[in-house]
Amino acid sequence: MEKRDIKSLTLPALEGELAGLGLPRFRAGQVYGWLHQKRVSTFAEMTNLPAALRGQLDEKYYINAIQVKKKLVSKLDGTVKYLYELRDGNCVEAVLMHYHHGSSLCISSQVGCRMGCKFCASTLAGYVRDLTASEMLDEVYTAQRDSGSRVDGVVLMGIGEPLDNFDNVMDFLELLSSPQGLNLSLRHVSLSTCGLVDKIYALAQRRLQLTLSISLHAPNDEIRDRSMPINRKYNMERLLAACRDYFAVTGRRISFEYALIAGVNDSPACARQLAERLRGMGAHVNLIPVNEVRETGFKRGSRAQIQGFQRQLQQLGVNATIRRELGADISAACGQLRRQTAAELAPLSRPAGGDL
Ligand code: SAH
Repeated sequence: MEKRDIKSLTLPALEGELAGLGLPRFRAGQVYGWLHQKRVSTFAEMTNLPAALRGQLDEKYYINAIQVKKKLVSKLDGTVKYLYELRDGNCVEAVLMHYHHGSSLCISSQVGCRMGCKFCASTLAGYVRDLTASEMLDEVYTAQRDSGSRVDGVVLMGIGEPLDNFDNVMDFLELLSSPQGLNLSLRHVSLSTCGLVDKIYALAQRRLQLTLSISLHAPNDEIRDRSMPINRKYNMERLLAACRDYFAVTGRRISFEYALIAGVNDSPACARQLAERLRGMGAHVNLIPVNEVRETGFKRGSRAQIQGFQRQLQQLGVNATIRRELGADISAACGQLRRQTAAELAPLSRPAGGDL
């Protein structure tokens, strides 16, 4: 029988599993503590369990671990970019950023992505598979161990579309915030989506304290249809309706990401249209000078132009900031390290799926 992933089990799920083996409830608490507080890598290290039980667990389950395959440290600001290798040899990226208020880790949720956004490096080679809850958790545990410092916040903005891996991401958030584990408050977690409307409604029902970010990147359907295929399934009207519902249900303000691409979505007319659509939503717009990815051909405008776009939004009553760039010298933009390394080492695994 194939061994199962014990680290992806939430505490109630682990209690259920071990009860099925005829074990008392406190055993689940012990095992959970070894996995998520002491973070051991073998059952043999769980020294307060009877040896027979350790053997029994080892036969049924494996303890996930991931390896740091490559690590780049920015000389400019200390940002660390990790290329992690998973158990099956696939690779994903995470980026550790340092701010005044603490450190934040940007993690991946899938190997590749099937959303197909035209400006994004992560989607160029297609989708390979979803990450398990334990793999996402190990992105955090491994960064903490390697850096020797606590991760204070997590953003789901690396490779992949988190809402396209909904159940595993929900388990991951439960594990991450559990008081018997890392105990990271979901107030310090952001989740970014390109706009899977059905899943935004489902997420609202969970009433989590996290910050939802929407990758909008366009002021109208015409531009969004061209750069983000998801818009042909869920247009902006449906997306913004889901955002209003999310705000009404959770009381949490939504942040909108807008990557400025020269000559595509950065004109004064675009700023006016964007302001019109977002006014009155309590929205915050995060302007990102687009990261230039060789294969896409998209270029960023000048600093002055980006600041002009921001000023215009503010004058029209929409709160807007320009994202500070970290790790500019280590191509910290997501998806780029995995592609570079894959090109150097071997052809990427053949993408599966690809349809929305
Ligand atoms: N799939 C999710 C999260 C991963 S992408 C989402 O779409 O939100 C993280 C953010 O980086 C998204 O806002 C995405 O649109 C943005 N992004 C992707 N490629 C980019 C690029 N070349 N320049 C700037 N931002 C980019």
